[in-house]
Amino acid sequence: MTDKNSDKKNAQHKKRMQSLKEKVDQRIDKAQEERGLLIVITGNGKGKSTSGFGTIARAVGHGLNAAVVQYIKGTWACGERSLLENAGVSFDVMATGFTWNTQDKEKDIAAAQKVWQRSKEILKDNNIDVVLFDELTYMLSYKYIDLDEVIQALKNRPINQHVIITGRACHRSIIDLADTVSEVQSVKHAFDNGIKAQKGIDW
Ligand code: ATP
Ligand code: MG
Repeated sequence: MTDKNSDKKNAQHKKRMQSLKEKVDQRIDKAQEERGLLIVITGNGKGKSTSGFGTIARAVGHGLNAAVVQYIKGTWACGERSLLENAGVSFDVMATGFTWNTQDKEKDIAAAQKVWQRSKEILKDNNIDVVLFDELTYMLSYKYIDLDEVIQALKNRPINQHVIITGRACHRSIIDLADTVSEVQSVKHAFDNGIKAQKGIDW
């Protein structure tokens, strides 16, 4: 490329960047509101819970008070638990064992209700800045927890409290209520090729 051509390209690039910066600055100036967010991470791809836990770690790193409630049946502790509990994060886990072992729906509902009671306390607690409800979406799909009750509790929570909800097939009303929603799409997953769940990566 001749010097003249490259000067022209540089000038064009600079102009484009300046215009982009102006637009971004305008949007930053406009975004002045400050309040607790409702964030939903849904979809079939891998990365929903890790994203939720990543945000909890980010918040703790800034000195915020965080809580985690896991609506999971498995009794294996995930790697995040020991790390975050040691950092002062409150942890509640449903951990009923798998239904195909217990085949006991009533027991599952009772376990879901028990952690939901704890979740409601958190949603009234001004001292909790950010809470992750991991895999909550399934409790609504199975109707183990009442959707309207969840919506009311989310709406009435402390104004500055952030809530993250993860899980596949999030109910439309929760998506409508949320401020930020991401759908993680699966392009491929190691499990499809017979690779088993890996410690530190999958749990
Ligand atoms: P992660 O906890 O890794 O962020 P996730 O929360 O997005 O995953 P879940 O549906 O909660 O996904 O499933 C948890 C487990 O299932 C993890 O071990 C994860 O690797 C695995 N998994 C997630 N998505 C898929 C998929 N599309 N195919 C197969 N296995 C998956
Ligand atoms: Mg998950």
